[in-house]
Order: sequence, then C-alpha cells, then structure tokens
Amino acid sequence: MEPEHGYIAFIINPKSGASSSKWLVNEFKDYLSNRNFAVQVTFTKSLDHARELANEAAVAYDCALVVAAGGDGTIREIVHGLEGSDKPLIIVPCGTENLLASELGFDEKAETLIKAFEGKCLRSLDLGSANGRIFTSIAGFGFDGDIVKRVSNLRSGHINHLDYFWPIWRTFWEHKFPVLKVKIDGEDIFEGHAMAFVGNISRYAIGLQILRDADFGDGLLDVCIYKCKSHLHLAKHSALTAIKHHANRSDVIYKQGKTIEISSTSGPVNTQIDGDPGPALPMKIHVIPQAVRVLVPPDAKPAGIRARLMRILG
Ligand SMILES: [Mg+2]
Repeated sequence: MEPEHGYIAFIINPKSGASSSKWLVNEFKDYLSNRNFAVQVTFTKSLDHARELANEAAVAYDCALVVAAGGDGTIREIVHGLEGSDKPLIIVPCGTENLLASELGFDEKAETLIKAFEGKCLRSLDLGSANGRIFTSIAGFGFDGDIVKRVSNLRSGHINHLDYFWPIWRTFWEHKFPVLKVKIDGEDIFEGHAMAFVGNISRYAIGLQILRDADFGDGLLDVCIYKCKSHLHLAKHSALTAIKHHANRSDVIYKQGKTIEISSTSGPVNTQIDGDPGPALPMKIHVIPQAVRVLVPPDAKPAGIRARLMRILG
C-alpha cells in the first residue's frame, strides 16, 4: 500500500490495555506517519461508538486501511462496523487476552504489525451471529458463561489475568452443569449435562486449544461439547484439553457446522460471547462467511500456551 491510495483510519480504545500497549500503538502510528501515510486517529467513547467509527471508515471512499487498537470487545465492534466492506483491517492487540489478534498471529511487537502491513497477506475472516449479536471468536455456554458474568460484575475498566482468579475458583466449586440441547445444521447432536463452546478460533484463554481444528476463514463454526456433571470430570477435561487430547474422547463431541442451536431445560444458563456476557438461551448461531478482510503477518501461527503464559507473567 502506498500513501496515495488513501488515508488510514486508526481507531483506538483509549481505555483498553496496559501502558505497554499504548507504547505499541504509538510506535506503529509513528511508523506509518514517518512513511508519509495520512493517519486519521479517532478515540472510541464506547463499544457502539467503535462500531460507528468503523462504519464511517467502511464507506469512506478515500480510506485505504483501518487499524483497530483495543481488546477483544473493541475489535469485535470494529469488525462488526466493517462487515461486508472490502477495507482491509490490521489489529493492534491492546487487551487482556487478545484472542482474535493472537489467532491471526499478532503479538505485542511493533515489528509484527509492520510485517503484516508490508506483507500484503490478506485473509478473509468469518463472523458468528448469536441471536443477532456479532462475535469474532468464541461463545461459551454454562461454565465459562458463569465466570464471565462474575468478572463483569466485578469489573471497572481494564482487567488483568489476576481478576479472573477468584471468579474461576468460585465457579469451579459452585457451578451446576446445566442440561444443554445442541442442534447443528438442523440435526439433534446432544442433550445432557455439559459445557459447550462454539467459535471460529482454535485457541481460547491462555491458549487452550478447545476448538483445535477451527479455521477463521473456512465458512464453518467449530463446536466442542464437554459432557460434564462434576468438578472431578471438569478437572479431567481441563487437563486433557491442556495437552490437546480432548477432542476424540467419548465424553467430548467435536463437530463443525453453519448453524448451531443451543437450548436448555435447566432454567437460565449464563453464556458469553468474546468474553462479554452473552444472550440468554435458546440461542441460534449462524456463521457469516468472509465478512471482513484482515491483514495478517505472513507465516504467522497462533501463539501457544507457553508463549501466552510468558506474556502474562512477563
Ligand atoms: Mg471456521
């Protein structure tokens, strides 16, 4: 891309991220300005505002690229605002988990952003729609819905990994696994006590490869259902997932599809989409194939568990 192709819409959530990510944002912005690109910086005031700013960039004839700097929630809204446009997007990871950015091969280094910018490696990104709400990465039902609810009740502003510790601990001991009923592309797949995940990216929190075969541009959503009723069984599922031996076991169902319907007979079930509290059940999810185009670092692979733990600790 050359400066004469148009301006770069640089959308920043000023609230997300630690000071290191502000430094990353500035470094990438300076790189673009030093190469004579016209960079138009805007700051988001809310998630809705992030989507509006992306929407404006999507229809601006002289905008050549959108840069989105924020956490998973901000990125989701910006992607939503760009849906269906051909404007390429680059993601600057500034949140706690950065699930989508990590899946696309970004880390917290400016040189990786520059490689993506210069590399011209453009990929299509599918989205999911859950009862009309857009998500980019992963939706969870039951166990992690409870965790997200607890975290969001405690939350005020930017959160770090430690903020998840007590919610996970308490949910582990107190969670009652609901009966979930799952239909994929019209076919009844499962009914029973479980926790379930539906998504588009292979790695979840701290790099766990729950949806290990997920491809963000294949037009399909991956579904993983863990049959589960007790703490002990959950501990076993967690350990087997950490060593990537969960998906072909008899107490796990792993499938792909375009529409997924999840309901429950157990009363209200907490859900999460992209780490925020999700809609109530019953939920109907469908894939929106090739919704946006993203510039990714050439040959990049999603960071593994070890790399992500080092980032958390480092
Ligand atoms: Mg997919």
